[in-house]
Amino acid sequence: MKYIVVTGGVMSGLGKGITTASIGRLLKNRGYRVTAVKIDPYLNIDAGTMNPAQHGEVFVLSDGGEVDLDLGNYERFLDINLKSIHNITTGKVYRNVIDKERRGDYLGATVQIIPHITDEIRHCIAKAAQEEIEPGKQADICLVEVGGTVGDIESMPFLEAIRQMHAEIAREDMVLVHVTLVPVDTMGDLKTKPTQHSVKALRELGLHPDIIVGRCKVVIGPQTKKKISAFTDVPAKAVISAKDVPDIYHVPMEMEKEGIADVVTGYLNLKNSEPDTEWY
Ligand code: ADP
Repeated sequence: MKYIVVTGGVMSGLGKGITTASIGRLLKNRGYRVTAVKIDPYLNIDAGTMNPAQHGEVFVLSDGGEVDLDLGNYERFLDINLKSIHNITTGKVYRNVIDKERRGDYLGATVQIIPHITDEIRHCIAKAAQEEIEPGKQADICLVEVGGTVGDIESMPFLEAIRQMHAEIAREDMVLVHVTLVPVDTMGDLKTKPTQHSVKALRELGLHPDIIVGRCKVVIGPQTKKKISAFTDVPAKAVISAKDVPDIYHVPMEMEKEGIADVVTGYLNLKNSEPDTEWY
């Protein structure tokens, strides 16, 4: 199983979910079986009790799971059916750990965030990744979107679990994608400082991005990509523009033009077959 982990910096609503779904679509177009997991670092067990005016649509899965709207984007972009286990929340993770503690599964140990919560997170990710997406078939690649913004207290245990996975999994089996904001100032210049700071915050947690996706009003030019690369050690060709588009279904095409699928397949050491362009 190969993993593509998507984190976000600077602020929420930059398009982590759309980026995750788009990368998945481009890999599916190249013939890979793709699944997706959404991590929501809130204490609610699921999105069913959350005010849609605050949190957007509650998406209902075929097994009755009431989940975050990103799962709807994954299903629509990837043409797959997901289950409740594909939406991991802090609430679900803590409930599992507390149930185990009450049953005595920890044999008297002091139950702590590290290792018990992080182990449970890793178990939930692996279980969801291995769930069959077609009868008798698992996915080749699992996308994992970590909700929230790097630096939030809530997402710390999840990012620590990802760091542990990253340390254990072979280099070619995990890619880290960091979505950030590249604002345009009043002079029309593209500003890289928010990206520099959010990559620094990620590095403080022991994670180094392989790919940076910069949400921007315009396509990020080669000079700005070089500057981001110089500050972050991410190769310039792995700095990808996510420019504003009128329709989110255009995002995969824009990202294909930016070469993100080739960069991902390169990191993951996958045979980079020609994309099936019929989907466009
Ligand atoms: P996040 O997961 O980072 O919170 P989402 O993927 O849910 O962000 O996207 C937030 C909003 O931005 C959504 O309404 C989505 O439709 C919109 N969006 C995402 N990417 C783009 C883009 N490249 N151009 C225009 N709108 C976008």
